[in-house]
Amino acid sequence: MSKCWCGNEVLRLFSSEYSVCDKCQTLVSLVGMSPEQLKVKNDEHDFYGKQYWLNHQNLDLGYPDIHMRSRNDLTERNLHWLVTLLKYKLPSAKVLELGCSHGSFVALMNQAGYKASGIEMSPWVVNFGKKTFNIPVDIGPIENLNIPNDSLDIIVIMDVLEHLPEPVQTLNQCFKLLKPDGFILVQTPQFKSEMNYSELLESKAPFLEQLKSDEHLFLFTRDSVSQLFGLCNAKYIKFESAIFSHYDMYFVVSRQPLKENTTRVSEQVLLSSASGRMAQALLDLREREIALIEQLKHCEADRYARWEQIGTLTNMVKEMEREK
Ligand SMILES: [Zn+2]
Repeated sequence: MSKCWCGNEVLRLFSSEYSVCDKCQTLVSLVGMSPEQLKVKNDEHDFYGKQYWLNHQNLDLGYPDIHMRSRNDLTERNLHWLVTLLKYKLPSAKVLELGCSHGSFVALMNQAGYKASGIEMSPWVVNFGKKTFNIPVDIGPIENLNIPNDSLDIIVIMDVLEHLPEPVQTLNQCFKLLKPDGFILVQTPQFKSEMNYSELLESKAPFLEQLKSDEHLFLFTRDSVSQLFGLCNAKYIKFESAIFSHYDMYFVVSRQPLKENTTRVSEQVLLSSASGRMAQALLDLREREIALIEQLKHCEADRYARWEQIGTLTNMVKEMEREK
């Protein structure tokens, strides 16, 4: 692409596939993709069709395929996301997940009591979600759906923002569908303006994985993503800790100030329904897992300190024996 999302055309070369916008510091793909190419008309051959989920993710990018992901994501990223959702809006808020993939997060949100649905571009993956999780999923893009304005509480866009050829237009459409106090939950790669391509290569930085110029069209910095949402009149933004913090950023953003719920209140809501209790049980297990990992880190540090002490004492004994 020869132009940044912000309209600026003065770009400085970053690598053979990306430039940096001089004005907002977003990393701009030189390959690019048109809004038309985003659509899936032929599920077998179009970029975001069936093969994207079956072969491209697995063979080209080295991620587990959609069958594995539909099992693994639930206990990994989906629970992390649910905690944030509960913090900012309680069930039974109405949620739309843009680019919901296999649909496990939509399923988990419904389990927790949200009224959640999803959209995807490929009819094949839409059917996959419906069959696998028995959830409502529609074929996108969002502009084609019959969703009334001011009707949604939350829109979730995970690993989607970086794929959008016209992010301002898509986000404005999202805000049209959201109620005035609604928010968007976003996970997207985080570019840092001090990053230098040869240094990234040298240090084998995890961010290199995000440089997929045929699909990651814009890679934002914290500042440029705030500018992007600012253009949509959404200036209330709160960055949360990303589950993949070595290359992602994660935030909620709204046109009105964000209100927070305490854990006690969200637990009461989950425990008030049978399916909510199942979601709470998963969250309890996650808490226990996090506590165990912390404990393990502590034990490892302690073990290392003792091992060093043994080494020092052994050397002292050897020294004393020599002196004898
Ligand atoms: Zn820019």
